[in-house]
Amino acid sequence: MAYTNKQSTKLECTLCPHNCKIALGKSGICFVRTNNKMHLGLPFKGILSAVNIDPIEKKPLNRFLPGSKILSIGFYGCNFHCQFCQNYTISQGTELSDKNNYFSPLEIIEMAKKKGLKSIAYTYSEPVIHFEYIMECAQLARKNGINNVLITNGFLNPEPAKELLSLMDGVNVDLKAFTQSFYNKVGGKIEPVKDFIKLAAELTHLEITTLIIPGENDSDKEILDIANFIASLNPDIPLHISAYYPVYKSAIPGTSKETILRLTKLASEVLNYIYPGNIY
Ligand code: SF4
Repeated sequence: MAYTNKQSTKLECTLCPHNCKIALGKSGICFVRTNNKMHLGLPFKGILSAVNIDPIEKKPLNRFLPGSKILSIGFYGCNFHCQFCQNYTISQGTELSDKNNYFSPLEIIEMAKKKGLKSIAYTYSEPVIHFEYIMECAQLARKNGINNVLITNGFLNPEPAKELLSLMDGVNVDLKAFTQSFYNKVGGKIEPVKDFIKLAAELTHLEITTLIIPGENDSDKEILDIANFIASLNPDIPLHISAYYPVYKSAIPGTSKETILRLTKLASEVLNYIYPGNIY
């Protein structure tokens, strides 16, 4: 399904809650979906930024096939624009994309099979804006007995979210904070992300990650709001509380180990599985 509407000289993309109205020859907020003569253009479909084999815990997923390795594929572009993006070289533009780095869904599945891997992760930059490619890959993976794993910001409209999540075996959603004021800064909205999380909790194995940024989302109240929201769905949903480090346009100093451990302790009073991350 294309998830577009034609509106005089603009093409509306209804894939994510931005619902961009894209002028002829231009792209939406994510940089990768275009108005090509009033039809949806996907010039970066199948152009991968990375293909790696990772421990599944690195995604992070700690309670889905623990100890296994996963074929991780990455893309370009994102529908958020975080000042602190840890993958900004591939998420905040398409300049580094190489048309020669195209992989068909069949090539991806064959690669996973050849390496004896049980799962494929759609990861690194935001995968959901490459909806069509992931759907093709995921359907083929299912037919070949390979699991699909999505690592996402969860900013997707409900209809495509349902389609995509019904093919996923594991998902990690980045719940960036629990306030709209934080989501304003990254160019998003919190409510659609919460809706996506609720849907994911119903349809697949779900884990959640929050990157803790000093002064932005590191208060006791914020972590308790996050933990209580997750617990209202299922207290067994794992929460990864991860330390941020300064990168891209953010000069805020990195998160201390003490902060991560304090928030981990607090969240542990509400949830059954908390994993501190990125602390040394
Ligand atoms: S997927 Fe991209 S083009 Fe479509 S609405 Fe979202 S940001 Fe806009």
